[in-house]
Amino acid sequence: MESEALIMSEFNWCHGPSCHKKHTVDRVRGVKGSKVLRTRKIKRYDSNYWYNYFCSQRCYDDFANTYIQQIIAIAPRTECLETPIKDPKKTRHSTNYGYSWNQWDITVDETRQS
Ligand SMILES: [Zn+2]
Repeated sequence: MESEALIMSEFNWCHGPSCHKKHTVDRVRGVKGSKVLRTRKIKRYDSNYWYNYFCSQRCYDDFANTYIQQIIAIAPRTECLETPIKDPKKTRHSTNYGYSWNQWDITVDETRQS
């Protein structure tokens, strides 16, 4: 029993609220006559990346859209943040073929970091 629990702990179930409703063959489980679409299992790695908890960008988006108010409540942004920068420098580029564009270089001003 202990080894089974250990094996199970190496996986997460996808947290997408509708993962088990998506019509893909790899989600099909069960015996003939009582088949189901099952939430995908994900191999867990030692990191905090979202793909340890979601099988796809779609399931991640579904989760975020379903629980957006709770997610925002974790770290609400009540005022804007700012990064001090030096005055942006413009460089004009042009090709021999008449195409030209402006390149703006933006550099963080380390002397004004709070
Ligand atoms: Zn999923």
